[in-house]
Amino acid sequence: MVRLLGGALGRLRSVELRGVRIPHNKATAELATTRMPLPTQVILPMHQHVGASCVPQVKRRAHVDVGTLIGHSDARMSADIFSPVSGTVREIRSIHYSDGRSDEAVVIVPDGEQTVDSAICPPEVTDYASLVEAVRHSGIVGLGGAGFPTWLKMDSDLSSIDCWLVNGAECEPYLSSDYREMVENPQTILHGISTCLDLSGVPRSLICIEDNKPKAIELLRQMAADDPRIDVFTLPARYPQGASRVILRNVTGRSVPRGGHLTDVGALLFNVTTMSEIGRFLQDGMPLTKRRITVMGDAIERPQNLEVFIGTPIGETLEFCGLKEEPRKVVIGGPMMGITQTELDAPITRPNSGLLAFAHDVVDRPQTTACIRCGACIDNCPMRLTPISIQKAYQRRDVEDLDELMADLCVECGTCSYVCPAKQPLAQSVRFARSFLRAEQRKARERR
Ligand code: SF4
Ligand code: SF4
Repeated sequence: MVRLLGGALGRLRSVELRGVRIPHNKATAELATTRMPLPTQVILPMHQHVGASCVPQVKRRAHVDVGTLIGHSDARMSADIFSPVSGTVREIRSIHYSDGRSDEAVVIVPDGEQTVDSAICPPEVTDYASLVEAVRHSGIVGLGGAGFPTWLKMDSDLSSIDCWLVNGAECEPYLSSDYREMVENPQTILHGISTCLDLSGVPRSLICIEDNKPKAIELLRQMAADDPRIDVFTLPARYPQGASRVILRNVTGRSVPRGGHLTDVGALLFNVTTMSEIGRFLQDGMPLTKRRITVMGDAIERPQNLEVFIGTPIGETLEFCGLKEEPRKVVIGGPMMGITQTELDAPITRPNSGLLAFAHDVVDRPQTTACIRCGACIDNCPMRLTPISIQKAYQRRDVEDLDELMADLCVECGTCSYVCPAKQPLAQSVRFARSFLRAEQRKARERR
């Protein structure tokens, strides 16, 4: 399929769209967001973002309010953590992440009062530098799952940026949290965008939405009609449309050079809920302490979009939504890119947009068989990689071949595994291959 862009980006070339059509299973999409009551405790891990872990700024037994600073790091790549509740710090303990790492977590017991920290007030923003500085102290990170500190993304040289893309694709099955943001809070999304454009001088913003969300497209188009700088760009519903490099290529026709960033090709990309949080924060000054997650899966009694306090234990969230039967698999995020969670005491953190609990659906996987050389993994990879060759090169630990095959460009979308008729664990192999290649390249640099 070929699309052409008009207007300010009209000079860009046409692009071919790749990816797969997968069942959406977005049964929660038309359910208005419900709010979860205060949990018995919130657990705030000091690493809820890409970059350095925060250091606890409170001591055991300290009283904190809603919005009180709980974690901070002097490292540039980090994002402050704030209390979502008023209450007492019960303990600072170690916590294990699902990827095997461990860290500190601050555990707070709510007092039920939800007293707001007296320091909270709307930030004073007069120019782009003060906007970036304000967002630096907002705790906002990429809310589509990436967790990259938002202020750091904004703190780039914007002189060559001609388009601020806002990602409302939400291509992962089951998830409808971004969709609810678009239909429930279009004003804060547009306030965030117009402030960013006003102060940065970036001339244009495109809100990119898959064509299976007509209500959001129509609503945002209507509401942005008065601002000629903002438009809605409709994309075909294909997975993984929302991956940053995929959406960039499919909207603008531009490809990021290997080892480069979107800013190298004149674009910024923010998740739509992240942009909305910027708009909200500018109005009320409350840092990020809550977020919406989609709770679904065949083990869930009442699937819904739920606003949770960050740090709410997964087990309490599942209990609130009701379990039809004991889940055999719990996933944080979507079914394609999410992470299996074994500890139900673990908390919901900032980048989490979904919580799925399965009793049967996706748990029973068929046996892996030999590759039949059908080429489906290659034809459908959105990054035009050859996953089966990467898998074989990784099995040989062949650094040169992995480099040649550009294993580092994988966006971990899982499409290759999904389409493989032999059920080869391709995505997992490519993920390992990518880490292996990066580690070997790092070692080679250090030896030089
Ligand atoms: S190789 Fe990576 S980018 Fe390509 S389909 Fe597989 S997981 Fe997605
Ligand atoms: S999709 Fe599976 S069976 Fe087909 S070429 Fe790739 S690895 Fe082989």
